[in-house]
Amino acid sequence: MEGEDNIQMREEVWYTALRKHMVDGQIAARGISDPAVLDAMRRLPRHLFVPENLRDDAYADCPLPIGYGATISQPYIVGMMTTLIEPKPGDRVLEVGAGSGYQAAILALIGCRVTTVERIPELADLAQRNLKRAGVEGITIITGDGTALPKSEGPFDAIITTAAAPDVPSSLTALLADGGRMALPVGDIDLQVLTCIHKTGDKLTISHHGAVRFVPLIGAEGWSQL
Ligand code: SAM
Repeated sequence: MEGEDNIQMREEVWYTALRKHMVDGQIAARGISDPAVLDAMRRLPRHLFVPENLRDDAYADCPLPIGYGATISQPYIVGMMTTLIEPKPGDRVLEVGAGSGYQAAILALIGCRVTTVERIPELADLAQRNLKRAGVEGITIITGDGTALPKSEGPFDAIITTAAAPDVPSSLTALLADGGRMALPVGDIDLQVLTCIHKTGDKLTISHHGAVRFVPLIGAEGWSQL
């Protein structure tokens, strides 16, 4: 009978191959070229961030449910949003919407100092467990509304909001450092535009990066509880 170690080794080889296929075929092939982003996505075991019964789909070109109405985003969207905030080692990065912890882990692998906020306590716990299992350390997880953080939590070099906002939350632009970048979906509850903001002094420069569909941001500067 095949030993446990052997099975684990074969699984690792299999998932590593799937990850390479995901990055080559879904991320790099669609124009994402930041080597740090590609490297982090090649290294991080995404299958450890999805429910066990969905592990075989972990590297598919789509979002997956993680419970409580939330999803782990499509790999390409993770690559795109990560690229938009131009993360560099040592950057202080805030994520609103920890979900599975996958996006936060990608940023941590790039070398960022990550704080992630999740409004649903069970998902904050899930993110914590997933990060531990994947061996990713040093991420601060806050349970609460990411649009109601005190200014003393900032400033952040970059902010990524992985839930759909009706407008750009002023509480988040206030937390952005001079020279900071923010990426978030902004629009209706059903369809949004991936929006990127660069802050220079008091000036915000906004660019748009295509249509996306995220679960709603719920909170002080989001939607009301649905
Ligand atoms: N980034 C996550 C990942 O890598 O798995 C996916 C996040 S999921 C698309 C969006 C998450 O945002 C959900 O877990 C939801 O509970 C959370 N959320 C919604 N509104 C929030 C708020 N105001 N503050 C913090 N988290 C919020």
